[in-house]
Order: sequence, then structure tokens, then C-alpha cells
Amino acid sequence: MRDAILLTPGPLTTSLATKTAMLNDWGSWDSRFNALTAGVCADLLAIAQAQDSHVCVPLQGSGTFAVEAAIGTLVPRDGALLVLVNGAYGLRMAQLAEVMGRQVATLNFADDQPVCPQQLAEYLAAHPQISHVGAIHCETSTGLLNPLAAIATVVAAAGRQLIIDSMSGFGALPVDAHELPFAALVSSANKCLEGVPGIAFVLVAKQALAASRGNSHSLSLDLYDQHAYLARTGQWRYTPPTHVLAALRSALDQFHAEGGQPARLARYQANAERLRAGLAALGLQPYLPAAVQAPIIYTAHAPTHPSYQFMALYQAVRARGFILYPGKLTQLETFRVGCIGAIDHAEIDQALAALGAALDDLGWCSTGVKP
Ligand SMILES: *Cc1c(COP(=O)(O)O)cnc(C)c1O
Repeated sequence: MRDAILLTPGPLTTSLATKTAMLNDWGSWDSRFNALTAGVCADLLAIAQAQDSHVCVPLQGSGTFAVEAAIGTLVPRDGALLVLVNGAYGLRMAQLAEVMGRQVATLNFADDQPVCPQQLAEYLAAHPQISHVGAIHCETSTGLLNPLAAIATVVAAAGRQLIIDSMSGFGALPVDAHELPFAALVSSANKCLEGVPGIAFVLVAKQALAASRGNSHSLSLDLYDQHAYLARTGQWRYTPPTHVLAALRSALDQFHAEGGQPARLARYQANAERLRAGLAALGLQPYLPAAVQAPIIYTAHAPTHPSYQFMALYQAVRARGFILYPGKLTQLETFRVGCIGAIDHAEIDQALAALGAALDDLGWCSTGVKP
């Protein structure tokens, strides 16, 4: 039997080629591994057209480690960070900055409302102490797409620095460093790049990194040091996740073979449209309006049946070979279905059939019509 298809936004379903790329052992000091690191970093910069302006600093760990590293390294200890919040990942960025003792403020929007650039401009004008702005590209807690280009324009015009969490967007949603000014963009291997978990990375503006020496509160999360050591020796500081990097190399080769970012986005968009239509046919209404929905993950209102429980639905869909994701909204009963990963029309259709059959079994078919 095949592995369950992960309809979750990372870890996600990876291709056989990506999995088999992990069958070799690598010496972390070996020149071949150093070349692997350099090649992956060059590719990640090129995806954002950032080769001239930025450096890529890879980091061991999940995506949150890299968000924490970016803020700890780039926001000076006497700086102040404004986080644009419309979901759980914005809240997490504010929380981690607070834990490390940086001054933090939040500008809050409803979970289904994109960041308003006008309000941001007014806030920055009224709060000159803010040195950095943190923004979430796709807020994965709902699937909402924030207006990154407009946010970047406002932040640059106000003379502040932008730190982007594009964890669930990078590789699919376009980012062009020539047009979009940013001090740092954080992402990880195991989302739209379709690698396996264990590596995150930060694209850091060269000037911002050069000015950040000694800022970090943390040894292992210091991007300045990580980059300086890498530049000097070709090696990671501390043990690198060798197999994970080899998998990311393979995933990037497949990404290029597919046609790069535009092709990745097109496949996810096709998945997303199929998913939206299929969910609606099952009587499951989307939480977000189409205009602010990113083609990454869908939040659906749960069936209205009085005995509905997410875990029961999860188990019934799991038994059919698909993994759903719980909702992340506190006020509403929802669940999430991802449309990223090494999946296509066929898997989306199979997932919808599994969901329909599960709802039917449980007697929760919202349409009241048997599929
Ligand atoms: C996945 C994700 C993260 C990081 O999560 P980890 O579990 O630490 O990998 C951060 N921000 C966003 C928007 C995400 O989607």
C-alpha cells in the first residue's frame, strides 16, 4: 500500500526521487558535500532573483528556528519589531521576538482580512521607534494571502526593514528581489519546494547581514556567524542534516524540470481550484473569500451536523489513505486541506472521494445527498 497522502502544508507528500535521494551517506567536511550546500544556496537565491543583493544562509531545524534566527540576528537589541498579525504564524513571530527580549508591537487584522497597507503606513508614521516589520506571506493557519508587494513598498518608503515569513509560499508564490525590497525572507525545505523537513533558510540582504554582527542573543541561531563560517570554510557550523540537504537538491532538480516557480504555482492553482469545487460539491463551504485565498491550503467550515468531531472525520479519511489537517481558528469549527506537495489532479480527486465517503459513513454529509 502507498503511504498516506499528506494534505498538510509541510511535511507534505514527496516524490519517490526525493525520498531515494536520501540513500547515501555524506561526510559533512567533504568537498562534495560543500559543493552540494553551495549549489542549493545558489538555487534558492535564484528563485528570488536575489543573487546580487542577498546571501542564502541555511539553518538546521524547522522553519520556526529560522524565523527566530532572522529576528534575533537582524533586529538590534535596542530595535523594535512590528509584526503584522492575521493568524497563528504572525502571533508566533511576535511571541518569539518577545521571548528573546526584543521590543515588539503587533498590528492586528481579523483572520479573514489581509494586512491593510494604508493602515501599516499610518502606523509606521506614528511610531518612529519601529525599526523592523515582520510579515507573513501566506498565513498558513487559514490559507490567506497577504499583499506582500504593497507591504514591502510601504515599509521601504518608511525607511524600515522588512522580514518576511514566506515559509508556505516560497517556490510557488512569486518573489522578485529586484522589485520587492526585503532585509530577510525565511522559508524551509518541506513546503512548496517539496523537500523533507530538517532545513530552513534565510535570504538575507548583504548590507543587513553585514550590520548584524553581535546582535544575536543565541549562538546556534546566529545567522551572521553561520554565514561567516560557511563563507570561510564551505561548511555548516555544527552537524548539518546531510540526507535532508541531498533530498532538497533532488527536490530542486525536480522543481527546475517542472518549469520552476510559474509551473509550481500553476499546478497548485489547478489543485486548489479542483479542491474548492469538490469541497463545495460536498456541501463544505470555504472559510476565506476566493480573492484572498492562496493556492496552498484551504480552510473549510466543518459539517454542521450536531455530532461532528474532527478526530472522527480525520480517522475515517485516514483509513482511506489521506491525512487532513485540523483547523487553527479558535472561534469557528473548521478543518484544513492542503493542496501542495508532490500531488496532482488524481490525488485531489481521490482525496475528495475519500472525504465524501467518510462523511457519508459518518452520516455527516452536509448536502444531505449521498455522493
Ligand atoms: C510552516 C510554517 C512556519 C514554520 O513552521 P515549522 O513547524 O517550524 O516548520 C512558519 N510560518 C508559516 C507561515 C508556516 O506555514
